[in-house]
Amino acid sequence: MQRSTKIVSTLGPASSDAATLERLVSAGVNMVRLNFSHGTAQDHIDRAALIREIGRKHNQALAVLVDLQGPKIRVGKFEHSKIELVNGESFILDASCQMGNQERVGLDYKELPNDVESGAILLLDDGRIVLEVTDVLGSEIHTRVKVGGILSNNKGINRQGGGLTAPALTAKDMEDIKVAAQLHADYVAVSFPKSGADMYMAKTLLRAAGSKALLIAKIERTEAITNLEEILDASDGIMVARGDLAVEVGDAAVPALQKKMIKLARQKNKLTITATQMMESMITSPVPTRAEVSDVANAVLDGTDAVMLSAETAAGKYPVETVEAMARICLEAEKSQDSKINDDVLTHGNFTRVDQSISMAALFAASHLNVKAIAAMTQSGSSALWMSRYISGVPIYALTPEPDTYNRLALFRDVFPVMLANENTDRENLLLRAELEMVRRGIVTNGDLVVFTFGDVVGLGGGTNSLKIVKVGDRKPR
Ligand code: PGA
Ligand code: MN
Repeated sequence: MQRSTKIVSTLGPASSDAATLERLVSAGVNMVRLNFSHGTAQDHIDRAALIREIGRKHNQALAVLVDLQGPKIRVGKFEHSKIELVNGESFILDASCQMGNQERVGLDYKELPNDVESGAILLLDDGRIVLEVTDVLGSEIHTRVKVGGILSNNKGINRQGGGLTAPALTAKDMEDIKVAAQLHADYVAVSFPKSGADMYMAKTLLRAAGSKALLIAKIERTEAITNLEEILDASDGIMVARGDLAVEVGDAAVPALQKKMIKLARQKNKLTITATQMMESMITSPVPTRAEVSDVANAVLDGTDAVMLSAETAAGKYPVETVEAMARICLEAEKSQDSKINDDVLTHGNFTRVDQSISMAALFAASHLNVKAIAAMTQSGSSALWMSRYISGVPIYALTPEPDTYNRLALFRDVFPVMLANENTDRENLLLRAELEMVRRGIVTNGDLVVFTFGDVVGLGGGTNSLKIVKVGDRKPR
C-alpha cells in the first residue's frame, strides 16, 4: 500500500544538511516548507537547491513551498531579553519605545495603537500571556495583565476576535516573492490574508516576478473565516494554520473549522494543508502522544491533502523519526476511510469543461469497475486535481512530461506523479509507453485494468478529451 496523504516538512537548523534531508525524503516527505519568518534568503536558496538535487537523485517528485512571513505583529526587544508579567499589574505596549523593560516594550507594527481600544484583549506568545487594554494614549497602549508569565524578545501579538488592519503583504514579503521566483518555488503561502484581494495581490506580484507557483492562503485570522469562499476562489489551496487561528478564534473552535475548511476546499477543487502542533511532543520525544496520533489520523479522515510539521523537523531532536511516525499514522488511517464517490460525484456534477467531464467520468468508471489504477496523461495537472477531489480508493498516476507539474503534484492527495517524456511520439505509442512504465515500476501487471485519460493531441494543455480502459499486456508495441 502506498500512502495517499502527503507530508510537508519545515526545514530549519535540524534538517538542512544534505544527509538529514535525504533521510527525511526517504522517510516520506513530499514537500518542504521554507519558512521565511526565519533565516536569510541565501539559506532558503541553498535548501531549495539541495532538495532539487535529492529529487533528481531519488527520481522522486518533491515540491518546495515558500511560506512568507506576513504581518506577524511582535513586541520589540528587552534590555535583559525577557521580563516577568504578574497578574493584575499594568504594562504598556509603546510604538515609540526603543528598548523594553518591566514597565513597557516596543512594537514592530507602529499602527497597533490605532487598531485597539479599551476593553480589547491582546494575546501574546501564542496566547500564553493575556493583556486587557485599559487605555490608548498616543503611541501607548496601556494594559492590565490578565494572565501573566515570562515575556521574551520578539514574541507575537494577536487580537482576540481579529480586527488588526496590517496589510497581508509587507515590504519584506514583496522582496521575498522575488526570492521565491528565483528559487523556483512550486507553492507560495501568504500569511494572514483577510480577503480574496490579498491573494490576487500576491498572485500579481508573483507573476510579475516570473513565478508560476501555486498560491496557498494561510487561514489564521478571524476575517479569513468570514471571507473563506472568496479566499478559496482566489487561491489554489489553503493551510489550516491552527497556531494563529486558535489564538484569534479560540482554540475550541478550531477542530470544527478544520473540517469545514477541508470540505469546502475539496468542493471548490482546491488543496489543503493541515498545520501546526501535529506532532509537537516529538520536538523532544522519540514517540508521539496518543492525542497527536489521533490528531493526524483525524486530519486524514477529514480529507486533508497534506499534514505539516513545523518545529518538529525544523528544530526538533527527532526530525526523521517524526516523519516516519506521521507516515505510519496516515497509512493506517487511510485504510479505514470509506470511498466518498457515490455520495459526492453524482450530486456535484456541474461541469463546464470537457477535460473536467472526462476526468470525472474516469473516476466514476474506475471506482465502479475493479481497476488497479487511473493513469492521467497530463500537462498542467488539472485532470489529476479534479479526480483527487473525491476519495475513491483508486490511486491516480499522473504521467507528465512537465517538470513543474511533476513536482507540484507531490502535494495532491491520492496522486502519484510519474515523469514521462512525450517527444516524437504519437498518441497510441505514448499510451503504450505509459503502460510499460507502470509495469516496470510494479504498479500494474498483466491482466490488470487501467483507466487512461488523455488528449487527441499529444502535449496540449487542457486538451484531455478521451477515456480508454485497457487490460495490461493486451497490446503489443507496433
Ligand atoms: P506559522 O503559521 O507557523 O507561520 O505561524 C502556521 C500557523 O499559524 O499555524
Ligand atoms: Mn501563523
